Amino acid sequence: MKQDEQIAFFCDAMLGGLARWLRAAGYDAAFEYGIDDGELIRNAEESGRTILSCDGPLFDRNIIRNGQVPALRVPQQLGKFDALRFVMEKLHLPLRDPRCMACGGELREVPRHCVTDEAPPLAYRGCDKFWRCLRCSKLLWRGTHWQKISRRLAEFENRLTG
Ligand SMILES: [Zn+2]
Repeated sequence: MKQDEQIAFFCDAMLGGLARWLRAAGYDAAFEYGIDDGELIRNAEESGRTILSCDGPLFDRNIIRNGQVPALRVPQQLGKFDALRFVMEKLHLPLRDPRCMACGGELREVPRHCVTDEAPPLAYRGCDKFWRCLRCSKLLWRGTHWQKISRRLAEFENRLTG
């Protein structure tokens, strides 16, 4: 299984929460509502992504069994945070710079004076740094939502190292 920093994922239809957490942890993770196994496998193969799935029968398919499309089975009963830990421990992935939680795109910092008109006034006043997603163009800042997420990720890193 690919373990370099280029690794990207395709999550099955039940793992949308995990996809968002993987993006926060710095990994590109795709996810589509209602996608079926065949489509999931085709998309993962075309884009060179590793499948994350909790669907048992998917792992019986030849293309998965013979390793043509890499896939990791995620236990179904895990919450999204424990699922993230499971994936990162299994694949020995370090925490990386966060990606866009909406789409998994890379973020680039935008100078604060460039977002005067675009950022909500509260965010503009409260934050020094802003980022733009290079894929979906969404403007991001580290407000209270992000602070909660980064606390969970810090806790997670302590568990990994400790
Ligand atoms: Zn994005």
